[in-house]
Amino acid sequence: MEESHDIVIVGGGICGLATALALHRKGIASLVLEKSETLRADGGSIGVHVNGWHVLEQLGIAAELRETANLVTAFHDVWQEEKKSTLTTVRKELRWLKRKDLIVTLAKNIPAGAIRLGCHIAAIHPSDPGAVLATPGGRVIRAKVLIGCDGSNSVVAKYIGMSAARSTPHTFLRGFTRYPHGHPFGDHFLRLRVNKRWFVGRSPITDTLVSFFVACHIPSADAGVTNDVRATRHFVLQELQGLQCPAEILQMIQNSDPESLNVVAKVWYRPPWQVAFAGFRKGTVTVAGDAMHTMGSYIGQGGSSALEDALVLARSLARSTARSGGRADEPCDKTMIVGAATAIGEYVRERRLRVARLSLEAFAMGTLLRTKLLATKLFCLAILALLGTMALGHTNYDCGRL
Ligand SMILES: Cc1cc2nc3c(=O)[nH]c(=O)nc-3n(C[C@H](O)[C@H](O)[C@H](O)COP(=O)(O)OP(=O)(O)OC[C@H]3O[C@@H](n4cnc5c(N)ncnc54)[C@H](O)[C@@H]3O)c2cc1C
Repeated sequence: MEESHDIVIVGGGICGLATALALHRKGIASLVLEKSETLRADGGSIGVHVNGWHVLEQLGIAAELRETANLVTAFHDVWQEEKKSTLTTVRKELRWLKRKDLIVTLAKNIPAGAIRLGCHIAAIHPSDPGAVLATPGGRVIRAKVLIGCDGSNSVVAKYIGMSAARSTPHTFLRGFTRYPHGHPFGDHFLRLRVNKRWFVGRSPITDTLVSFFVACHIPSADAGVTNDVRATRHFVLQELQGLQCPAEILQMIQNSDPESLNVVAKVWYRPPWQVAFAGFRKGTVTVAGDAMHTMGSYIGQGGSSALEDALVLARSLARSTARSGGRADEPCDKTMIVGAATAIGEYVRERRLRVARLSLEAFAMGTLLRTKLLATKLFCLAILALLGTMALGHTNYDCGRL
């Protein structure tokens, strides 16, 4: 019941799989431990901006993924109550990918046997080097290097002493709707503010498939949300109908594929000051993706920044392997482990400012949507203007070559 590995990644979501693939491309083996029995592909679609596409290029899977999703060329913002709308051109690459396509494409490029499903890490204990992981079934896994890509409620983040992520009540219904004869929405992403509480997003995936979400700034219990996604859809439809939401939106939700529906009841985030000052490393243990800087959906950068983390971490570890004179495919020896601690330190330094800035932007956007205080609104707007959030300044970041 005891085994030992050089590099272990906890969590087989976007970040864990991208890290394993990035390491693999550098000739370094790792083992991904995922608690679900299957790769988790729920959650509808994910908007990937140009900074995320840069990483997918480096991982060698961008061309394949581009085949699955159309380019989005503009944001169509509509304020229903104010009867106002604007169209903003998107100048750089933006596509909404089906999460399933992204996860499956990452996974199939990772060597067979490097992803272990149904492996829940319940506890982590210190060891030198690395850490010892334990499953509820009593299995013990020794990891010389441990990377926590286990999302917002990360057991690895807790082990290295980070405080718990915070959450805010929010209700999201997400899903896909198929239009067998083609949809009429072109290549625009619709952002419809129905009123101060209800918000609808709709993005084209292909000519016949759109993905949507309905967001509501009220706790899910008050929004009549249960575990029954069809009941939630029914509730959402009734509410939107009462608010005179356009028929094409109601039809899209009504005709959505019930199997694709997914409800999110909380949005997790780490406040920017936490991200700016947290210790992201303990020896050769670190975190990446949502485990490091969960930021919800407010600026649509959680996934793309997780891809950036994966690239930078793999690059740093590969450099340390080369520096210590070892071959990447050889087992880690003592010098390489010392090198790994330095490499992780470099990774944390390189990522800190970037993820702190994204967390600040997401935090300001989330606060702006929730607050009723004029002064707070103005303060948030000033931060967003200063950082160029509305002009998608954050998407211009290039994390470099793998
Ligand atoms: C409503 C919503 C919309 C969003 N839209 C966008 C968007 O358009 N664009 C964008 O870039 N981002 C978006 N995001 C954010 C994005 O989804 C996340 O940032 C991204 O999925 C993070 O990936 P991850 O791999 O770090 O974490 P996760 O996707 O949470 O993956 C963590 C994995 O770890 C596994 N795990 C957890 N604990 C353990 C354990 N103890 N042992 C073993 N395995 C474990 C989980 O099962 C899971 O598979 C959105 C988020 C929300 C909530």
